[in-house]
Amino acid sequence: MKILNAVLGATALAALSLFSASANAQGYPERQITMIVPFAAGGPTDTVTRLVAESMSKDLGQQIIVENVGGAGGTLGAARVANAEADGYTLLLHHIGMATSATLYRKLPYDTLNAFEYVGLVTDVPMTLLARKDMEATDLKGLIEYAKANQDKVTVANAGIGAASHLCGMLFMSAIETSLVTVPYKGTGPAMTDLLGGQVDIMCDQTTNTTKQIQAGTVKAYAVTSPERLDVLKDLPTVREAGLPQMEVGIWHGIYAPKGTPKEAVDKLSKALQVALKDPNVAARFAELGTKPSPEADATPEALKAKLEGEIARWKPVIEAAGQYAD
Ligand code: ASP
Repeated sequence: MKILNAVLGATALAALSLFSASANAQGYPERQITMIVPFAAGGPTDTVTRLVAESMSKDLGQQIIVENVGGAGGTLGAARVANAEADGYTLLLHHIGMATSATLYRKLPYDTLNAFEYVGLVTDVPMTLLARKDMEATDLKGLIEYAKANQDKVTVANAGIGAASHLCGMLFMSAIETSLVTVPYKGTGPAMTDLLGGQVDIMCDQTTNTTKQIQAGTVKAYAVTSPERLDVLKDLPTVREAGLPQMEVGIWHGIYAPKGTPKEAVDKLSKALQVALKDPNVAARFAELGTKPSPEADATPEALKAKLEGEIARWKPVIEAAGQYAD
């Protein structure tokens, strides 16, 4: 009898807490939301997040504060969200690094496929291969020759192992069969400052951070990793045109919430994301930065989940073949 009472009590408690989670979620959001960017302020992921968060907050009727938690190629910020309260008030905007870090880190402090709820895809951003302004090479062929001839002193900036810049740099080095000296930063915002100052030689980074610099001529640009040239950088050849098709890659971004976040909250967030991606301001800013919003059908939990699973499977053999891990 005692056991039966205990079981009934536990069931009632569980039902009550489920009820209160969903009752709370019905009025969601009732206060400000925090969106974590797993890289430093002033970089491309930060730029995308601030644009989208501002627009989503209009639909949600609550402010979304952007917080930068950079370090360890984006895994510190992802860990923060994996361990946050699953109440819809802490979110993560991360990119392809969510998939590559699942293989690059053999000891992650979270289980990539089981620690998050999925809100939806945001945008797919090309990368550009850049060098400091006074780099003598004027085209990709010249850059490759320079890199091969100066292998021990050419430095490549990235935002840590697991970052998009790390992946793109890795694709470059493997395509030219030359390993160069990598310099990690907490994000490519600060890395760009050093590239502009000439403290590092090369960087591969999203157009959401590089388009303005390329247009202003403050850096040398060699190629873009998209299959087609970009309207905003018409003179920049694609990696395929420039002879390195192995570097073709798109940096997809998605929004996540901690596992167990009530479905009502996740649904409201997906809807707000879909509204934001149709916001003409967001579309116009994205276009200026060489990208575009994901289509509505991709701004859904199902699409992001499928993308993450597919991309983990896609990059695993590539990373394993490179044989370089974060730990
Ligand atoms: N672009 C960076 C990366 O390499 C991240 C950032 O600073 O937004 O992933």
